Amino acid sequence: MCGREVEIEPDHNDYEKYLENPKAVYICTLCTAKTLKEAKDAQLEPKPM
Ligand SMILES: [Zn+2]
Repeated sequence: MCGREVEIEPDHNDYEKYLENPKAVYICTLCTAKTLKEAKDAQLEPKPM
């Protein structure tokens, strides 16, 4: 996470969530994409025994 503050605009993926919970912390779209990709990769990779 780069940790920078993100302005949630109406075209943001989490805009509806933001409206429901404006105090929640949101990460920028780059980090969101990165996190999603890492999560996906982690699921694909077999867990080390
Ligand atoms: Zn970021």
